[in-house]
Amino acid sequence: MAQIMDGKAYSKEILAQIKLKVEKLQKKPSLAVILVGNDPASQIYVSNKEKTARELGFISKTYRLKENTSSNELKDLILNLNLDEDTDAILLQLPLPKHLIPQEFIELIDPKKDVDGFHPINCGRLLTNSSPYAVSCTPKGVIKLLKKYNVEIQGANTVVIGRSNMVGKPLSQLLLAQNATVTVAHSKTKNLPEITQKADILISATGIKGLVTRDFVKSGAVVVDVGISRDENGKIKGDVEFEEVSKVASLITPVPGGIGPMTIAMLMENTLELSLNNAKF
Ligand code: NAD
Repeated sequence: MAQIMDGKAYSKEILAQIKLKVEKLQKKPSLAVILVGNDPASQIYVSNKEKTARELGFISKTYRLKENTSSNELKDLILNLNLDEDTDAILLQLPLPKHLIPQEFIELIDPKKDVDGFHPINCGRLLTNSSPYAVSCTPKGVIKLLKKYNVEIQGANTVVIGRSNMVGKPLSQLLLAQNATVTVAHSKTKNLPEITQKADILISATGIKGLVTRDFVKSGAVVVDVGISRDENGKIKGDVEFEEVSKVASLITPVPGGIGPMTIAMLMENTLELSLNNAKF
């Protein structure tokens, strides 16, 4: 049976360390979260982020905008937060309502306040190994959890399923920077199990419930499940068929309790880092 990589427990350790650091700071880190519209999952995510930020002693402000917010209203808010000296980190919760194009607004956020690391300057710096102000929280959390469990990334055959700007692409860059051999698979990939069976480390980030079954996984592989979806009873599920895959994997992340809490912990770590960095200017 595979050992579980406990993201919940590790994220608690990380958050406790951040809290200790924040206690010693005169100027508390401040996080501004922008939520547009009524997406139910986003409402929950934003409340959790707000709660965690406050528990750590951060200043946390959430801007809840109505579903029919105009492009100009959202632009103005972002530009004002860019100028606001009391805001260290800006998070634009995605998805946005259909009439708003995310990339237009992501590119407006000051890269020094871009807590998600989605701005092209931060993505470009990640690509070129040249110190992004922040690295995307979920991929950062994946690497951190692998390291906590002493997984050898260097030289490992690593397969990432998913090629999104938020998860798959930045994750593949981080793995490359750690000297892994990286294959990125996606919805148009042919013979997916044939590819994933070669992975020493298999990371799935698709949101397709139960996509990764036992026959996708090489014996002894490390399996990381980033996916979040809900079954017919509303229960949270990952991409990986946990029961059967844990019989062949050596290490595995659960859903929930794996990458989800690591992502929140990395968001807080990024907020603290941006705040310390902004204090230098
Ligand atoms: P996305 O929809 O932008 O991308 C999904 C990716 O999966 C695409 O690149 C697509 O090509 C690929 N894909 C879809 N169907 C596939 C298939 N049948 N075979 C192979 N590849 C397939 O989603 P995203 O933003 O990258 O998020 C992916 C998943 O991770 C979602 O379930 C999301 O909820 C979850 N997520 C979790 C966290 C967390 O904190 N745990 C954070 C971010 C995203």
